[in-house]
Amino acid sequence: MLKLFVPKMKVDSIYEIDLAALLDQGFRGIITDLDNTLVGAREPEATPQLLEWLKVLDKHGFRVVIVSNNRQPRVERFAKPLGMPFVYKAKKPLRTSFKKALQLLDLPPEQVVVIGDQMMTDVFGGNRMGLFTILVQPIAPQDEGFGTRINRTLERVLLTFMNQ
Ligand SMILES: [Mg+2]
Repeated sequence: MLKLFVPKMKVDSIYEIDLAALLDQGFRGIITDLDNTLVGAREPEATPQLLEWLKVLDKHGFRVVIVSNNRQPRVERFAKPLGMPFVYKAKKPLRTSFKKALQLLDLPPEQVVVIGDQMMTDVFGGNRMGLFTILVQPIAPQDEGFGTRINRTLERVLLTFMNQ
């Protein structure tokens, strides 16, 4: 049970992910969280660094979809200008939004990675769908809401249990 909370890969930020290696392993699609994964939780728009990264993803031929537990205005305002498909109020770790994201990507689960900054939602949700999960460090943890701070406390308890 606990291993469902353990990411397959851990990096400091999305910019450290070895995209060529993912391609080599047969991955073609990315389901990514938004808040504190792509930008800080209170950043309304993509940063120049993120725009560059998205270009690189595109060059590599990756399909990308944003799956966020946040509300429609936040997610839409961020994703629309980028022309990225998105799922809002995703209720991660429930499976529904991951299934929807796989449909949007039109890829089989074994070709898709999940990127996110939370073990309780992104990693747990991705793992229980059998997807390859990548955990990043939260960009701006000081800006997190109440629910997320509770999840962080649970994360710390889990990590202590798992001795990591
Ligand atoms: Mg997040």
